[in-house]
Amino acid sequence: MDDYALVLNAGSSSLKFCVYRRPEAASWGLEARGQIEGIGTSPRFTAKDGAGTTLATETLDATVRDVPAALDGLAAWLRGRYRGARVLAVGHRVVHGGAKYAASVVVTSDVMADLKALVPLAPLHQPYNLAAIEAVAARLPGVPQVACFDTSFHRGQPVVAEMIPLPAEIRQKGVQRYGFHGLSYEYIASILPDVAPEIADGRVIVAHLGSGASLCALKRRRSVDSTLGFTALDGLCMGTRPGSVDPGVILYLFQTLGLSAKEVETMLYKKSGLLAISGISNDMRDLIGSAEPSAVLAVDYFVYRVAREIGALAAVLGGIDGLVFTAGIGENSAAIRERICRASAWLGIDLDPDANERKGTRISRSASRVSAWVVPTNEELMIARHTAVLLGLVPDARTQGV
Ligand code: ADP
Repeated sequence: MDDYALVLNAGSSSLKFCVYRRPEAASWGLEARGQIEGIGTSPRFTAKDGAGTTLATETLDATVRDVPAALDGLAAWLRGRYRGARVLAVGHRVVHGGAKYAASVVVTSDVMADLKALVPLAPLHQPYNLAAIEAVAARLPGVPQVACFDTSFHRGQPVVAEMIPLPAEIRQKGVQRYGFHGLSYEYIASILPDVAPEIADGRVIVAHLGSGASLCALKRRRSVDSTLGFTALDGLCMGTRPGSVDPGVILYLFQTLGLSAKEVETMLYKKSGLLAISGISNDMRDLIGSAEPSAVLAVDYFVYRVAREIGALAAVLGGIDGLVFTAGIGENSAAIRERICRASAWLGIDLDPDANERKGTRISRSASRVSAWVVPTNEELMIARHTAVLLGLVPDARTQGV
């Protein structure tokens, strides 16, 4: 019988999944990937096979209002397609592992208690990640689950990079910079020797620019700093999050404008960033195409902040050898990449506009002192690798195609 492993990435309005299959006496391979979007509004199920051919696009019942219901929808599709399949493991993306989890972990009740305590640090992500773990435990009791954290890859940074200089009694409660998008950065770091060997062991800034956005400074493929901190609100301007703001602004919202904690939380996570500047959309595709001055300003501000933070991380690294773009905007928008590279020309980046338009892997000219690259990320594959290694499903997941 073939073996199967699932990877789940559960959010507030979407459940992304990958199905990996290991035929008898063969190695693991990607069988299908897809998502249920619009949970709670107009749920839609889509799935493709490993080669990218569409397997399903279905509108789901409006009763798919939360993660457990979405999981039931996914389970029904899986049962129909892979009847009698043996699921060996489920790997999950979990946004926050706190200071304790410097690596992925097999989920136990003690682990769940630790992860629940971190919900206040990632209120819009962690509860959905954990709901998926609980829903799987209820439906597939006995199937081991692995939690893979967006924070783990950043552990081991220098003390000064993790520091939030508040009184000791506050820091002792876990108030420090953690960093996020770690599964994406870990994946990029893992394939740099293959796709960009000349910079792999040097000083590299990776720009993960999606609806959430951050930069990571890599030295010899290890994270030494990043722009996200205690929560996923710091650093760059994002789709609906502001990035760094003077903490005095938050005091002003509470003390002078009399906003409640919930109102401030909603403002910071859902109503700020590109959406707030433009008043039009949180989606970069809508903004790039728009001539509205507010949309132009939103794009200008996004590029400005990325360039500013690239400068800051270049200082941390003492100069850079390479700049890597990844995630939705980084992989797909030649215009944004061009603007960021031009704003960073002072570092020695000489963009090759043709390669950039063609979305070549290397997008800087061969003589460029600092090279620039586009490398598609694959957080799900990273989760699959960790899950397979932790559960001993393969001796070395990398060599087995996972
Ligand atoms: P997440 O996983 O955080 O939801 P993604 O990495 O998938 O985010 O990125 C999604 C974002 O990428 C979208 O909100 C959109 O702004 C942006 N994006 C996708 N394609 C393009 C494109 N061709 N041009 C500009 N932006 C794009």
